[in-house]
Amino acid sequence: MQNSNFQNFYSIPRENLVHRCREAGLPEVHATTLFRAAYKSLMAEPWKAENLPKVARAKLAYDLDVRLPGATKILVSRYDRSVKFLFELQDGSLVETVLMPERQRITLCVSSQVGCGQACTFCHTGRMGLLRNLDAGEIVGQLVSANMWIANNSDWLGALGLPQKQRVTNIVFMGMGEPLDNVNAVADAITIMTDPFGPGLALRRISVSTAGHLDGLTQLLNLHPDVRIALSLHSPIESERSKIMPINRRWPLGMVLEALREAPTQKNHGILIQYTLINGVNDSLRHAEELVRVTSGLKVKINLIPLNEIDPSRFTSPAATAVEEFRDFLHKSGLRVMVRYSKGQDIAAACGQLVIAETDLALRKTLQ
Ligand code: SAH
Repeated sequence: MQNSNFQNFYSIPRENLVHRCREAGLPEVHATTLFRAAYKSLMAEPWKAENLPKVARAKLAYDLDVRLPGATKILVSRYDRSVKFLFELQDGSLVETVLMPERQRITLCVSSQVGCGQACTFCHTGRMGLLRNLDAGEIVGQLVSANMWIANNSDWLGALGLPQKQRVTNIVFMGMGEPLDNVNAVADAITIMTDPFGPGLALRRISVSTAGHLDGLTQLLNLHPDVRIALSLHSPIESERSKIMPINRRWPLGMVLEALREAPTQKNHGILIQYTLINGVNDSLRHAEELVRVTSGLKVKINLIPLNEIDPSRFTSPAATAVEEFRDFLHKSGLRVMVRYSKGQDIAAACGQLVIAETDLALRKTLQ
């Protein structure tokens, strides 16, 4: 059953299983049964579902690989109970996934690539470079593995005051990688995650964050027009943005914002703007004024994230007063704005900190 040439079950949209049923002359309902077993009951071997007849088991599941990303390390934050998973994929690549509990919600921050090719100068993941894209099964697999962990850790749910049946409710593509640089896999993963017989997440509870990959954005919005978009803006001044975010040279901010202006998701849900505040780089009132100007006419909510310092000789976090002034200016200009302090600081799960450290690689060797 576990030949690695076999197709990974978690990369298959239900539609394709339905097609397999038809080809095998089986009732289509078996596709639903497999989906429910895998995603609702979280069975590690979904073909063992009681209501799946033997013949369907043999014809549908003979070539399915159901291996999931395996957690080689799990860290639980003492401060906010966020959980960082270090997952090992079939080829030995490592990716990070972060579970963030928040009142009634449980948000999972998933990775879409091993490393990242965008090379934003202040981001730790950016320094790894792009090693490879994840496939849809590896993205969906992060969700299934995280849900299995939750199901097996009732004390974690209990300590948060959440019901025992609670599972992940929201997904943010804000882990390692630029999701829109891997748009086909991300779009398939979203199709599976929102399947009512699968994980059943509402599309409006899924946010895809981008540094401004315009081609990918256009493709994704064609397939899932109503998915939420977060834009990592970080500087409203084109020339300055190009210095800290090389992607801006290919797709200038103005072009990206123009595309978003027309998008139904912007009209329905608005756009989340992520703005990492970096001392002396993008935190002046001039930047705040420009930010108001470039976002005018768009329905936006702004998250200000004081920089998590990864290389203080290059970039530092602004003083608390500078953060407040920046926030107050935006607020007075009528924008919805929040200061977000990253979760999981003690377990290096915060924005821009997702990087596979040497120690993790060493740990993996000892586990082998
Ligand atoms: N590539 C996508 C998804 C990553 S989301 C994107 O750029 O949107 C991770 C967020 O954390 C991005 O907004 C990123 O710019 C931000 N970030 C990166 N390094 C950071 C740091 N050191 N401190 C705070 N935020 C950072």
